Amino acid sequence: MNFNKIINMDIIDKLTEIFKEFPGIGERQAKRFVYFLMSRNPAYNENLSSLISNLKKEVTQCKECFRFFILNSKKEKLCDICTNINVNSDILMIVEKDSDLESVKKSRVYNGKYFILGGLVPIIEKNTKNRIRIEELKDRINCIVKNTPKKLEIILAFSLSPQGDHTDSYVRTELRDITEKFNITISSLGKGLSTGTELEYSDNDTLKNALKNRQ
Ligand SMILES: [Zn+2]
Repeated sequence: MNFNKIINMDIIDKLTEIFKEFPGIGERQAKRFVYFLMSRNPAYNENLSSLISNLKKEVTQCKECFRFFILNSKKEKLCDICTNINVNSDILMIVEKDSDLESVKKSRVYNGKYFILGGLVPIIEKNTKNRIRIEELKDRINCIVKNTPKKLEIILAFSLSPQGDHTDSYVRTELRDITEKFNITISSLGKGLSTGTELEYSDNDTLKNALKNRQ
């Protein structure tokens, strides 16, 4: 019996299981990744594994918008959007994840602040509060309202999917007390996107229209 083969089989299965956890990756793709890595030279794989292990050391999460960003030498706690004085602090866009923020930022059609909710609310879910940053969002809004003399507008920018819709109404309900108290306008971007559209894959024109048609 070839023991090395058994060990190799184990590691293939282990890595396959890890890749299967990546967003949008199924069993077959996961296996293809593993075989791809096997075809590379050792230096390639060592470089990859060192990049992965340094990721958490060199990246931090912004204390205001919860976006991940590269730590600079000053070890700042806020990202370049939250510290940029040219960003319009009267608008707060709430997105599901980092990649959504990055695609809106890249499109240059929006120049306000962001907040990353950290997920969507599944339609059947009892433990919602543990899945998304709803309490952090309330704190953030309270903090903005205290520091901004102008009227605040909130844009909910979730994918136009049943889960996105559900999250939209969940967040609206949770924020009702605050939005009524401070007379905050709240709109949804989803209506300007076509059904099933993922924010992160939207092009500039789609985003521009969605922003214009928000309701
Ligand atoms: Zn930030």
